[in-house]
Amino acid sequence: MNHPDRVDNFNGGPAALPLEALQKAQAELLNFNGTGISMLELGHRTKAYAAVHQNAKDLLRQLLKVPNDYDILFLQGGASLQFAMLPMNYLTPERSGAYALTGSWSKKALDEAKRVGPTRVAFDGKPDGYRQIPPADTIAVNPSDAYLHVTSNNTIVGSQWKAFPDTGSVPLVADMSSDILSRAIDVSKFAMIYAGAQKNLGPAGVTVVIVKKSFVEQSTAIADERNLSVMLRYDQYAANDSLYNTPPVFAIYVVGLVLEWLAAQGGVEAAADLGRRKADLVYGAIDASSGFYQGHCVPEGRSTTNVTFRLPTPELDKAFLAAAEENGLVGLGGHRSVGGCRASLYNAVSLDACERLVEFMDSFRRVNG
Ligand SMILES: *Cc1c(COP(=O)(O)O)cnc(C)c1O
Repeated sequence: MNHPDRVDNFNGGPAALPLEALQKAQAELLNFNGTGISMLELGHRTKAYAAVHQNAKDLLRQLLKVPNDYDILFLQGGASLQFAMLPMNYLTPERSGAYALTGSWSKKALDEAKRVGPTRVAFDGKPDGYRQIPPADTIAVNPSDAYLHVTSNNTIVGSQWKAFPDTGSVPLVADMSSDILSRAIDVSKFAMIYAGAQKNLGPAGVTVVIVKKSFVEQSTAIADERNLSVMLRYDQYAANDSLYNTPPVFAIYVVGLVLEWLAAQGGVEAAADLGRRKADLVYGAIDASSGFYQGHCVPEGRSTTNVTFRLPTPELDKAFLAAAEENGLVGLGGHRSVGGCRASLYNAVSLDACERLVEFMDSFRRVNG
């Protein structure tokens, strides 16, 4: 749906939200569900909020087909706090965290784990500029690994795992911040999935953690041994349904609105189909440009949610971004650590928006190529 006051937003995150979800939040802002109170003011122990909390969990469970032996938790601190919490709850002197490094977010996750306990690098894509994703079956785990950590989608370089390593009895943990709900996944293959909401799920301020109950149980002895703060323990979030302290109620409410919208669109399968078409359009414009636009990743590893590319010179990158903005196409700058351009095509970015982007890319190339 388009709106005359709004632009096409390709930001990496916080990112575009569905117009319908924003309009519902706007309509309910002064008086949520007959309470006479805004969701910004509503107590987290009220019956009205309990329904909102449960609704967001139910929709996540339904959309991602989360099995019943998994908990769904709402935390704060972003995906970055998960980089630290995960090793705090699972590393011991005998058990290392294994990391597949496919981008700078995976590297940051490893750096946090190194502060806590033993770690091991299971794959390092840095020497190659993080241009590819290794074949899943080349990642080996050790029986002494506490877990294998992967970043399902590399938001900054624009690459994505298409199949995940089979880790046998070693728990598989994935940071899915930038592609959760963009495709169907088999949750039962993962011990834990976490995602900051501000890319594909909702606004900044809440992090979703989907975790196998038996994996939570494993953390208790280690957290006790470390004397971890309640706020850093998965078992406490699970035991208290993420209500030990005040959760980010407004962010969770908006996540629920986004999930309702996604369900009405046909769920994750429909989002994956549409996502494929959107990505094909933009990669098609890159590949048909005779090298004017250069994609960062090898084609097999390309992300469907973050399309990264460069023009022939940094000056042209700059001119492209400025002209795009004048045409109502915003947020196309690459991450500050790598520069260049990036089109983030999260669920709320429409096919129409991608068509407008591709039209603009073609006309910019004709004038400047
Ligand atoms: C954005 C992002 C992060 C960082 O998220 P914060 O919520 O800012 O901590 C971590 N991992 C991935 C894959 C991301 O895209």
